[in-house]
This record gives sequence, C-alpha cells and structure tokens, in this order.
Amino acid sequence: MTTTMDIDLGPQAKAFRDELRQWLEANRPPPSEASDEAEEAPQRGGRGAMAGMFGAGGGWREWADKLHDGGYLCVAWPKEFGGRGLGGIEVAVMNEEFARARVPRVTRGMGEWLVGPSIIVWGTDEQKAHFLPRIIDGTDRYCQGFSEPDAGSDLASVKTRGIVDGDEIVITGQKVWTSGAQMANMMFCLCRTDPDVPKHQGISYVLVPLKRDDGSSNGFDLRPIKQLTGGAGFTETFMTEARAPMFNIIAGLNNGWRVTMTTLGNERGGNATTQHIQYTRQFWDAVEMVRSKGKQDDALVRQQLAWAYTRTEIMRFQGLRLLSEVVAKKEPGPASSINKMFWSEYAQRFAEIIMNIRGAEAMVMPSQEPGQYRLDRWQSDFLSTRSVTIWGGTAQVQRNIVGERVLGMPKDPSNEDERPAR
Ligand SMILES: Cc1cc2nc3c(=O)[nH]c(=O)nc-3n(C[C@H](O)[C@H](O)[C@H](O)COP(=O)(O)OP(=O)(O)OC[C@H]3O[C@@H](n4cnc5c(N)ncnc54)[C@H](O)[C@@H]3O)c2cc1C
Repeated sequence: MTTTMDIDLGPQAKAFRDELRQWLEANRPPPSEASDEAEEAPQRGGRGAMAGMFGAGGGWREWADKLHDGGYLCVAWPKEFGGRGLGGIEVAVMNEEFARARVPRVTRGMGEWLVGPSIIVWGTDEQKAHFLPRIIDGTDRYCQGFSEPDAGSDLASVKTRGIVDGDEIVITGQKVWTSGAQMANMMFCLCRTDPDVPKHQGISYVLVPLKRDDGSSNGFDLRPIKQLTGGAGFTETFMTEARAPMFNIIAGLNNGWRVTMTTLGNERGGNATTQHIQYTRQFWDAVEMVRSKGKQDDALVRQQLAWAYTRTEIMRFQGLRLLSEVVAKKEPGPASSINKMFWSEYAQRFAEIIMNIRGAEAMVMPSQEPGQYRLDRWQSDFLSTRSVTIWGGTAQVQRNIVGERVLGMPKDPSNEDERPAR
C-alpha cells in the first residue's frame, strides 16, 4: 500500500510511536489471525465492528486480551479510569501503527466510544468505579437505545416510559434500529420519566441490563431487521417492564438530555482519526482493482480517483484538527458534525464511483447458488453506505447543526424549542 505523507507530530508522538511499534512487533498475532476484517469500523447495520468484537473466534479474543493486558483498550480515557490518557495526536498515531502492522484495532465498541466518555463526564464517582472497568475488561457490551419509531432526528420526543418503583426504574416502550443488540448485555437507554414538563427536561439516561441475574430476559424482545446487504445487524427492540437499579441513571432522574448531547458529540466526532485509514486503504484497493481491469489510463477514472484521494487526505487533516479540539475542550463540540457529514457523503459517492467503473459486472452477485445472497466487498460497500448519512444523525440535521451552532445562522424554524435535533 502506498502511504500518505508523513507529518512530524513532535517528540512525544514519536516516542509513543516507537514504543508502540516495539510492542506490536513483540505481541502481534501471526498473520493468519491478524485479519483486517475484524478492525473496528464505524459502520452500523453491517457493522464489522460488532461482528469482529463479539462474534469472532479464539484468535480475536486472545488478541483482545493481549491488548487489554498491554493497556491498549479505551486508550483515550483518562488514566484514573483505566485508560491511557492519550491525546488526540497519540490516538491518531496508534490508529496509524495498527494499520501499518495490519492488526485489528480492537475497541470496546459503543462502550468505549459513546457511553464510557459520557459516564466520565456525568457519572458519580461510584458509577465511574462500577461501570468503567466493566467496559474495559469486556464484561459489559453496550447497545444504544435512543431511536424510536417517532423519535429519530427529533430524539427528545422519546415516548418509552420510565417509572420509579422503590430503588428501581421500570422501563416500557419500543426502540428501533438498535445496532448490535443481539451481542450486547447492556443498553444505554433514553426514557421519559416526567411527561408533564417540556420534552427535553423529562428524559432520563439509564444503563439497562438486557438479562436478569438468573439469565432470563429483563423484559426485552429483540426482533432482527433484515438489511439490503443481507445481514441483520440491528433490531426492533421492545421493552416490557425492563428493570434497572436507580443507581444506573446517569446524571440523575430527568437530567438525561445533557448526557445525550455528550454521547451524540462523541458519536459524530469520536472516530475522526480512523476514517482516513479505512478510506485510504479502500482507495488503494480500488486502484489495484482499476489496474486489474486495465482502466488505469482512462481519463475519467483517473479524475475520479484523484477526487477521492484528495478527500481521504482532507479527512486525515480534519480528524487531527477535531482531535486537537477534543483535547482542549475535553469533548467534541458541534464542529464534529462537519466530520460526520464529510466522511459519510464521501463514502457514498466513492462506492458509486466504484460501481460505475466496474460497469455491468457490478450488478451481478458473485454467488449464483439459488437462495444465496452473497455480495462482493464493493457491492456491499455500495449498499451499506446508504445508511451512513442516516445513523448517528442524518446529513441534513448535521447541516442544521453546522449552520446554527458553528456558523451562527438563524435557527431552523421547525425546531420550535430551539434545541438542536439529533
Ligand atoms: C444502520 C443504522 C444503524 C442505527 N443504529 C442505531 C442504534 O444503534 N441506536 C439508535 O438509537 N438508533 C440507531 N439508528 C437510528 C438513527 O439514529 C436514526 O435513523 C436517525 O437519527 C434518523 O432518524 P429517523 O430514521 O427517525 O428519520 P427522521 O428523523 O424521521 O428523518 C426523516 C428525514 O427527514 C429529515 N429531517 C428530519 N428532521 C429534520 C430537520 N430538523 N431538518 C432537516 N431535515 C430533517 C432527515 O434528514 C431525513 O431525511 C441507526 C440507523 C441506521 C440507518
């Protein structure tokens, strides 16, 4: 693979890079186990991340254990909470080195990326001490119970009810598009705990176990949703009197909205340094594919590939810029929406370009077996990227956020209570 231009990130980053390179040399699994496929990927629905993290065999788990022992999980979390306290630049270095060594960059998924950072900002000391180590050691695997049939972009309209019953909260309602629910044992869930106040003020953010201590379901009914790609990476999720201790409410009863904002900020911006690695690798794979078809001298193809290359480089610099902001302010701000918009729209456009370059061949499935639905990677990219401008906040809503909160333009008139939509 051709590499991008090296940037001098300073002596601290260099020392960390050298140390990490040595560790990887000494500890990396043999090449057959070190599949790139298992790398944490930002997509949902067909999520490589989830499949890799929870579904893979022994090699994967051993590698995850090694990373855990070496302290290479939840690395951006502060040291006092079991992380490594890495700044944005070092996280970027780490992503680059894992990609260079072609080993999977195991993460603890939504626990590491979304809920852990939100607990760090809003949880009590007791909650931090209880929940954070369970994310790092893999005991708790989270799914996100935010969206509902009538509360997607307008997330504050959630109707799922939470009723306090002694020292427990009892939750009943329906969530939808719950990525990875089948592999999770915990959900971070938004529920309405006060229906009589303005909608943003009556919401609680609760960590709900999917099973009871005796192993029976905690009132959860998960119904897989089939996707264009053939998989079923998410579910409709029905909850009937699911119970959680009051201890599991983050930031207190009815204070869930501000925790939600922290979670969504991380969702839009948290993977900023992994994007360019994934898409740069995809770009060079595409160049190989173009060469194999003898289309490398076609002027239009060359122009489209040049367009793509410049964007993967912009993504790289944008990721570093965003991470510097995170380091300065401790959490991503509204500018993370620029990042989400940029990579998701790029991914869709690039997948289309590749389909066009391949021509008729792109429309035929590799497997002709009756009843089989198997796509090649480019077809799968094309179909799965349809979702990337939807999950984590749609591209249209990101534009509203950038307009209103980054550029200071007038508010969206449909957003009557002047709060940002998802
Ligand atoms: C692959 C995938 C995985 C997902 N995983 C999860 C998950 O794990 N957990 C979870 O809780 N949710 C998940 N979601 C749900 C996702 O967050 C929502 O789909 C998303 O927030 C949009 O909500 P909606 O689908 O209800 O669309 P709507 O909000 O109904 O939007 C419909 C259309 O209207 C536009 N629109 C809405 N409001 C505005 C506005 N104010 N200004 C301009 N345009 C607007 C939207 O851009 C969109 O085009 C997932 C979705 C997908 C596709």
